[in-house]
Amino acid sequence: MPPGGRCVSDELRTRSGAHGSASSLRPVRRRRASALAPLPSFASAEASDGPAASFLALLVEFDSKKSMDLNFTADQEAFRTRLRTWLEANVPAEPAAFTSYDDEVAFLTQWQRRLHAGGWCGLSWPRECGGAGAGVVEQAIYNEEMARAQAPELINKVGINNVGPTLMMHGTPEQRRRFLAPILSADEIWCQLFSEPGAGSDLAGLRTRAVSDGDGFRLTGQKVWTSYAQFSQFAICLARTNPDAAKHKGITYFLVDMQSPGIEVRPLRQITGDAEFNEVFLEDVYVPREYVIGAVDRGWEVAMDTLAHERGTNYLFKEQVNNRIAVDRLIESLRRRRAAGEQLDPTLVDEVMRAHIQVEIMRLHNLDTMTRLQRGEEAGPETSLKKEFWTQLAQHVYETALRAQGAFGALGIGEELGVDGGRWQRSFLYSRSWSISGGTSEVQLNIIASRMLGLPRGQ
Ligand SMILES: Cc1cc2nc3c(=O)[nH]c(=O)nc-3n(C[C@H](O)[C@H](O)[C@H](O)COP(=O)(O)OP(=O)(O)OC[C@H]3O[C@@H](n4cnc5c(N)ncnc54)[C@H](O)[C@@H]3O)c2cc1C
Repeated sequence: MPPGGRCVSDELRTRSGAHGSASSLRPVRRRRASALAPLPSFASAEASDGPAASFLALLVEFDSKKSMDLNFTADQEAFRTRLRTWLEANVPAEPAAFTSYDDEVAFLTQWQRRLHAGGWCGLSWPRECGGAGAGVVEQAIYNEEMARAQAPELINKVGINNVGPTLMMHGTPEQRRRFLAPILSADEIWCQLFSEPGAGSDLAGLRTRAVSDGDGFRLTGQKVWTSYAQFSQFAICLARTNPDAAKHKGITYFLVDMQSPGIEVRPLRQITGDAEFNEVFLEDVYVPREYVIGAVDRGWEVAMDTLAHERGTNYLFKEQVNNRIAVDRLIESLRRRRAAGEQLDPTLVDEVMRAHIQVEIMRLHNLDTMTRLQRGEEAGPETSLKKEFWTQLAQHVYETALRAQGAFGALGIGEELGVDGGRWQRSFLYSRSWSISGGTSEVQLNIIASRMLGLPRGQ
């Protein structure tokens, strides 16, 4: 890494970050084992040979009439094949259930280490920072292939997607030298202490304060929704250093050692039963001055860059494939039920087809994103449109999946008679978070209205 040089890649747009996204630990990983159930499992259809062939053929024909080249180059295809082959040989078999959260964390840590050793971690990080220096299209292919292989999540996605790029843009050479490598190797896991009880969408309203003390600062306040805090070694944290300055000024961006005296982490249980995120209380926590990123009182600008990485669009490549797999499994299970003589509710079939079409539209949205980024254009306010479109589509997919289960849909996660061990219930419940994390739906709609449609702001 060049001393003092910026080594962030402009292509880095991954947002699978802290804010759950589809990328949160448990719900998005597909369990391989499925319980025997009275209803046919949804879990057998292949993503690539679903019943959508004729519709896809139509799309391809439409694409070719518009003379658009939607093919990947030979190099990109070779990259895909190399990755696919590696994943086939290396994706670990997951236990049907982990005995404890610690076991799950250990399993995911090992997985990230294996990816790292294989050269498949920090793909978009520049080579001089330990990454693979991959371009936009390779990033998209990577996300698609990880979903296709149903690979486990990265344990350190906050570190890789949020912290690393921020340090590359704003960190000192010492900070980069100290912190970047253990992020990739999963030796140090990170979390993000931004949101507070009174500061989520309106993040600049945060009230955690930092008071100068000798060679450092003392932080006091409360954070909430902090994913992975319970097993993180470090955090990125925003705190107010100048209470007299305007709202967006006077905020400083800190690196915080989560083992510091004065930090208390209290897990919060979610509707899925998991406790992925936490309340974090800071009481007079000492942070040395060399752990400030950027200038004191100028943390807001740094935070905006972190959020730009977190809220990018790259995770949507992975999610589109996840949704494709889910819808194909759903269609396949309905086919089997019909073949077995069941009379299917036509309104249910309509919903499944609607989901199928939306997943295809999402694929086209992703191609649009890829084209824009490859041309060096900004993703722009369309990011909000794509995120909101995906949120609604994904929530609809899992609502429809539960509806297709009839009375069995009401069973809870892990119940004996549940279809696929309750995996669909877990995804359904988790999908509710997608209209909150990474910018709520209402906030996305505001952006679409004001920045894309030029509508006047509401009261
Ligand atoms: C799964 C998950 C993981 C997360 N992980 C982290 C993490 O690791 N670290 C972290 O710092 N944060 C994390 N978050 C927090 C997340 O960023 C916030 O939940 C999000 O920013 C919304 O803030 P809030 O919950 O305080 O809701 P609020 O901002 O209080 O919003 C409450 C309601 O008011 C609406 N609203 C707010 N402002 C407007 C407006 N201007 N116009 C119209 N409606 C509005 C919202 O849409 C919402 O319906 C996570 C959230 C989730 C769901």
